[in-house]
Amino acid sequence: MSNNHGYNNVVGLLDAFPDEAACAEHLAALRWPDGVTCPLCQSTRKIGQVATRPGLYKCWDCGKQFSVRKGTIYEESRLPLRKWYLAAFLMTTSRKGISSLQLAREIGTTQKTAWFVLGRLRKAAEHAGSAAGTLPGPVEADESYFGGRQKNRHESQKLPGRGTANKMAVAGVVSRTSGHAVARQIDQPDRATLIPFVEGATDPGATVYTDEHSGYTGLPSLFNRLTHETVNHSAGEYVRGKAHTNGVESFWALLKRGYHGVFHDFSQKHLPRYLAEFSHRWNMLPLSSAQRVDAILKAGIGERLTYEELIS
Ligand SMILES: [Zn+2]
Repeated sequence: MSNNHGYNNVVGLLDAFPDEAACAEHLAALRWPDGVTCPLCQSTRKIGQVATRPGLYKCWDCGKQFSVRKGTIYEESRLPLRKWYLAAFLMTTSRKGISSLQLAREIGTTQKTAWFVLGRLRKAAEHAGSAAGTLPGPVEADESYFGGRQKNRHESQKLPGRGTANKMAVAGVVSRTSGHAVARQIDQPDRATLIPFVEGATDPGATVYTDEHSGYTGLPSLFNRLTHETVNHSAGEYVRGKAHTNGVESFWALLKRGYHGVFHDFSQKHLPRYLAEFSHRWNMLPLSSAQRVDAILKAGIGERLTYEELIS
């Protein structure tokens, strides 16, 4: 029932979830697909709904009341779930994301509240990312840089002398099979950092496409069956058969459009959360809007979420 809302726009979302009761019922269905479970004593028997307050339950085993929000990112918030749902919709369906200023206008809150909501949804995206498995090969690996003195350069221009001061370095892997991306902030774009990152993000035995950056040399020997094929960017060989990194470069391009156009600056402190948000949105691209909203809502509950669960 609850996953069959086929909406694909804001009107559809608001029709599917007209009030707090409908939202709470849907959240409960996402959270407890096999029936409501008391988060206090784990009982699944004798649980009743408190009629006067949507999402509030009473467990007759331990005698306590609990909310469907308990233990979720929605717990410490008085914001109606409908506004959370709308925020989840806007965040997951806007190509470059949404700023707290704009979200505040859209859901009718202060910017501070909108900022809190986006922060919590990013936390949910982080959770979904850490629960996802390694990427199936072949994959493309690359690094990119944000901020600092090079800010005014053309976005697509790679910087000479990688890891220049005042810039934030990010490593990423994109699967050509699933299309999914993993990105992480790194201290140094060196071999000691990049190789464990690629190894941790990728299925064993996958072919890894990179450019000629020395940070990836030694990949095959360290990775056993991983094959490292080189794309020589400096020689102008951007595409040589399959040996290109266009997929991961599209991901960087989108991230940079968001960085410059929507958020203006990611601070060093918040970069990991933005990376989680952008990766999550990128990975959800094949899904419908309704599925994307469910994915982020469910990740906010704190349950493990697989791609298979999402599309089933
Ligand atoms: Zn109980």
